[in-house]
Amino acid sequence: MNNALSMRQPVSREQNFSFSTASNSASAGTLTYLLNNTRPLDFHEQILKAVRSPMAFPQDIDNLLHALEKVGIIIGAAQDAAKDARVRHCVRCHKTYVERNNGFQACQVAHDKPRLIKTGIQSDANTGLCGFKNYYPCCDQMVGTDAGAPSHYHFVGRHTTVETNVRYNPTNVLTCVMRKCAGQGAARDVTIGQVPPMQSAAPLPSRPASRMEVS
Ligand SMILES: [Zn+2]
Ligand SMILES: [Zn+2]
Ligand SMILES: [Zn+2]
Repeated sequence: MNNALSMRQPVSREQNFSFSTASNSASAGTLTYLLNNTRPLDFHEQILKAVRSPMAFPQDIDNLLHALEKVGIIIGAAQDAAKDARVRHCVRCHKTYVERNNGFQACQVAHDKPRLIKTGIQSDANTGLCGFKNYYPCCDQMVGTDAGAPSHYHFVGRHTTVETNVRYNPTNVLTCVMRKCAGQGAARDVTIGQVPPMQSAAPLPSRPASRMEVS
């Protein structure tokens, strides 16, 4: 009788931990498999879709957030940044923004309109404009007239309030002073830790990689 009762007693969390660590649990195995077999962009897209879904239960999103906090993926500064309602001025695209709307695709700068340059080299008669190329002053790059722009955007990345993060040029990425922007830079950037480097669509080799920031 006593034996039967004692067998029904639940195993405490401490007892569980003594036999199994998080790193070899079935859940860790499943998550490891999932991460090893899902492309990062697909995983990112799935998480974003789930979080934004109108069908998602708020409690489930709370639980997800708390779990990410507990394992150290989400830190307090990121939460503060998401709630930061101060209006900032981007020193690259010169738009105003609030941090919760910032993101890797938030700041977009188009290329300059290309100039048609005569190269003097006769190419295939079927390619249209023979002996001409498109010159993009913003990228200082020459491309074939049938090749399109060097990339979709001159720059795609995060808005910033820090000028040293910006690769200025004399044409389409100008400083606030050059553009005579008014009232910029009231709120400064807040660093939240390791963030992947900003992506520049234009292959400009002259400056070192930018520091990342929440701006
Ligand atoms: Zn460009
Ligand atoms: Zn911007
Ligand atoms: Zn500006």
